[in-house]
Amino acid sequence: MTMMLGEPGLSDSDGTDLLLRGGTLLTLDDEGRVLRSADLLIERGRISCIGAGVEVPQGCRVLDVADHLVLPGLVQGHVHLGQTIFRGLAEGRRLLDWLEERIWPLEAGHDDESAYWCSLLGAAECLLGGTTTIQDIGIGPGARGLMKAFVDSGLRGLAGQCLMDEGSGLPSALAGDTHEVLAACERLGEEFEGAGGGRLDYVLNPRFILSCSDELWRGIGELNAKHGWPIHTHALEQKEESAAVAALKNGRGEIEYFEETGILAADLRIAHGVWLERKHLPRLARARFSVVHCPSSNLKLGSGIADVVGLRAAGITVGLGADGAPCNNDLDALEEIRLAALLQQLRNGPGSLSGLDALRLATSEGARAIGMGDQIGSLEVGKAADILVLSLNRPELWGGESVDLHDLVVYAASRAAVRHVTVGGRLLVEDARLVHLSLEEIRRRASSSLAGVLQRSPVAV
Ligand SMILES: [Zn+2]
Repeated sequence: MTMMLGEPGLSDSDGTDLLLRGGTLLTLDDEGRVLRSADLLIERGRISCIGAGVEVPQGCRVLDVADHLVLPGLVQGHVHLGQTIFRGLAEGRRLLDWLEERIWPLEAGHDDESAYWCSLLGAAECLLGGTTTIQDIGIGPGARGLMKAFVDSGLRGLAGQCLMDEGSGLPSALAGDTHEVLAACERLGEEFEGAGGGRLDYVLNPRFILSCSDELWRGIGELNAKHGWPIHTHALEQKEESAAVAALKNGRGEIEYFEETGILAADLRIAHGVWLERKHLPRLARARFSVVHCPSSNLKLGSGIADVVGLRAAGITVGLGADGAPCNNDLDALEEIRLAALLQQLRNGPGSLSGLDALRLATSEGARAIGMGDQIGSLEVGKAADILVLSLNRPELWGGESVDLHDLVVYAASRAAVRHVTVGGRLLVEDARLVHLSLEEIRRRASSSLAGVLQRSPVAV
């Protein structure tokens, strides 16, 4: 596999200490404090001091961020980096046709090389949009390339192989012997768990109930028990999916299936959850269970509007994700936050989800949804220095003194305002440009990668 630009300089030792001077901090801590004209000091990759007039340690770089907002880096709990080059190639379809006619045949054409550049393209988009952590649901062929790209990109988060072994419309390259699928998954996890200086954790990614045999789910439960790897899957996205699950699994719904197979007793994070039923919520709230809301994907595929307010009121942790480029068609966390807020005003009434709470879906609560709430998601001393700096020097971000700054970010900020981004204290985006990655090279390699995928894929697009 040809890899990126030698090593892109993301060894653990390159994190220069950094002082962000004089910004307005949206801390997203438990009280949702906003600190004006505050300094934030980053030492050895962590937030070491927050306050006014912080002294500059020797050798520390200083960035003046007056007239900027400083936030925790955004967290996306459901992303398909491995689908980024399929943007625009699966239009106008509902979920099951979208998968069978386009997405699965395209994913079947991936190899490690194409998956690497495809994933790096998605990672670059995430970083330039202020996303610092993702939970990626992976791909089948090419999963190793995706994991390598994740490490090289500088992102933090979780990724794994997308697990499938049987199902209607599944291409032969994605189906496989159950034991071989599980063995490959375990090898990949042992290789990449803790990679990138601890930035990457492994996650078990069964695609959804319809493409995984009972035996595969059993094996996934065993890997969870053996290694402690959490489980991330799609569930309750569209009504047809639930009907197909009931037809396949003796009338059981997805939650009943997870409960009876023991998967619900593991650390389960589902993407979508549009069709969760009220009767299930109390027991889901007692489990280690979270929902990752994907508003623009749910709109584009005609899936429905998840009841985010109802889920949170029932005590369920909710995160946010862009899903993949062929169902969205971008990986823009700020847009997802805005859409999540707008859709809840429609579904549950104006004021039902505040700007602060909408922002939490992609910061403090989004971090908890993927099991990382103690490490990231708020600006607090001791947490990893994953930070987003937004420029206020834009017309749409002017607001009077009394304007709530969380509302301002949720409803008015776009990627155009992203100025700096750090992960673990490393400046990965500076002045709105990638520091370590060459976008020109990534774009060029993405084009040749797609050509290769289309040659190998059983679909003509
Ligand atoms: Zn998805």
